[in-house]
Amino acid sequence: MDNIKERIDELIKILNKASYEYHTLDNPTITDQEYDSYMDELVRLETLYPNLVREDSPTLKIGGEVISDFKKVTHEIPMMSLGDIFNEDEIIAFDERVRKSVGDVEYVLELKIDGLSVSLLYENGKLKRGATRGDGTVGEDITHNVKTIKNIPKSLPQDIDIEVRGEIYMPKASFVEINEKRREKGEKLFANPRNAAAGSVRQLDSSITKERNLATFMYHIPKPDKYNIKTQDEALEFMKTLNFTVNPNITKVDNIDDLLKYIRYWTKNRETLPYEIDGIVIKVNSFESQKKLGVTAKVPKWAIAYKFPALEVLTQLKDIEFCVGRTGKITPRAILNPVRLAGSVVSSATLNNQDYIKEKNIMIKDIVSIRKAGDVIPEVVEVKFERRDGSEIPFKMIENCPICGTKLIKKEGEVAYFCPNINCDARNIEQLIHFASRDAMNIEGFGERIVEDFYNMGYLRNISDYYNLYKEKESLMELEGFGEKSINNLIENIENSKNNSLERLIFGLGIKHVGKKTAKILSEYYTTLDNIINSSKEELSNIRDIGDIIAESIYNYFHEDKNIKLINDLKDLNLNMTYIGKEKHINESFIDKTFVLTGTLNSMTRDEAKELIESLGGKNTNSVSKNTDVVIVGENPGSKYNTAMDLKITIWNEDEFIEYSRR
Ligand code: NAD
Repeated sequence: MDNIKERIDELIKILNKASYEYHTLDNPTITDQEYDSYMDELVRLETLYPNLVREDSPTLKIGGEVISDFKKVTHEIPMMSLGDIFNEDEIIAFDERVRKSVGDVEYVLELKIDGLSVSLLYENGKLKRGATRGDGTVGEDITHNVKTIKNIPKSLPQDIDIEVRGEIYMPKASFVEINEKRREKGEKLFANPRNAAAGSVRQLDSSITKERNLATFMYHIPKPDKYNIKTQDEALEFMKTLNFTVNPNITKVDNIDDLLKYIRYWTKNRETLPYEIDGIVIKVNSFESQKKLGVTAKVPKWAIAYKFPALEVLTQLKDIEFCVGRTGKITPRAILNPVRLAGSVVSSATLNNQDYIKEKNIMIKDIVSIRKAGDVIPEVVEVKFERRDGSEIPFKMIENCPICGTKLIKKEGEVAYFCPNINCDARNIEQLIHFASRDAMNIEGFGERIVEDFYNMGYLRNISDYYNLYKEKESLMELEGFGEKSINNLIENIENSKNNSLERLIFGLGIKHVGKKTAKILSEYYTTLDNIINSSKEELSNIRDIGDIIAESIYNYFHEDKNIKLINDLKDLNLNMTYIGKEKHINESFIDKTFVLTGTLNSMTRDEAKELIESLGGKNTNSVSKNTDVVIVGENPGSKYNTAMDLKITIWNEDEFIEYSRR
């Protein structure tokens, strides 16, 4: 508990400092994503330990404190912040929460303009006061500066008293131009258009603000009843009649599918806008429903901000660990402060090998930027050297295997180090996991945990032990967490794998340099395992895509005693050793159905996805029509996605696709 309290104090210190630098000085020293993840951690801890919530917690406060250079103004109705959400599940949960409380609902969807909020007060149709949000209750008087912003009307076409609120922002083009001028003058550059806008608005000299080419989008009327306005879209229309600029991309939806469609569209197309947006604001349209939903101390419950996923984020590299692969290869791995990246939380990243670490000059405790590489494994892009404070610890390569302690070796021409001990537990476990994995023998149920446990308990020491596990059924059933049913399932899955086509077995054996593709080529060419075993190095190296190195590796593998024994054992255990051709595992969700793929999948290429669909009995086509059964949607889907929605065709995302394919 003491530790938790300490962490809460530490987080508050970090967040308060960041908030001051961001809101008051307009000069952030950490990124928004880092700020959001510290805030996330604080919210999590406060939810778990409500008695540790401090009264001055930033989770209860809005914005930053007001500096004294400006006259202070008190907002009659507080200017609130917005709750954040980061993925589609959270959007769906928000929608469900709203519907539970108010029933059928219409939403107004607005772009979340990355600027700073402003309140404009008009008396008798004349602009009287402009103010920042400040801490929500007390803001700064910036009237002299808002008067310089071109699209803020100084007088309205009606002589009314009204307060309107919206966002002041700096268009991307002005940002580039202003930073260019600052560079020429040797002045400090603005970090982003938001900070540039905030810095420009909070100037004592309004001629500076005027030069900065700021603009506004207005989106809120705090007292709509006065004008008999009942919904957010009416409020937006009313503001247009008063000559305020309202964002043209706002829309109205009444169902979750259209809501997600809008979000996906802008996630993909936000770069095309001439100003920056950092998300989408979802607002309940009816003011009556808004009232029913209410507000918290900091945010309304009738609106929420969906923040776009960051594609590259910063985090601290806490440590470097070493993994031992099935070939004995040692791979260093970065242990990271957990951070949200492209929709998932990431806590480690590959560092490839010691040369990679040296080239990038990575030290323990560095702040690094990470991104997801082509596949799902995140990688470290670069070190933020400017964030070093001297406490970083230089990286040192280990000399012994972290598992068995054997001295590591480096082979001629290879960058990586290897554990040469063929009995190293780590290597054996990795090999066993690989054998059962989806692309190899696909023995469901044998993930990392269970293989490691069975290995340590002595049930599973080498590949052939899988096929003798049925003999241990009675004692396996005694293990905690296993009943007769789950053990029967495991044994049945093992038994079924005996009928796999040859390429799965070859890939599962874990022969160096033989990946899935090479295993397939070998199987198609030789059709039986015996033919491969009896082949010469020359013959092997003459096959398409198989060079001398791979040929040598295959040849050596099948001439090692231990491997010959394994193959003979597997033959005695009745494993299929021939190429069956295109495998068809009949799967109810796929059989005789027509599929269309759109967008990028993270875990496989398009060809692999098509192959998987066909192997499960499905058909691939390129265009969506009434006859399409399922459209599989990856990242950045094309127009096929919209057509599918219009035709109400079943849509699977990548996770659903994988889930169905495993049934
Ligand atoms: P926010 O920016 O996440 O969301 C609320 C704000 O969105 C509103 O006040 C309004 O100004 C704006 N907005 C834009 N378009 C809108 C629209 N159409 N409708 C309604 N509002 C709209 O929350 P916040 O409280 O202003 O600021 C917190 C955020 O600021 C953090 O999530 C973080 O990203 C950033 N921050 C960064 C640092 C840092 O050090 N980098 C420090 C503090 C805060």
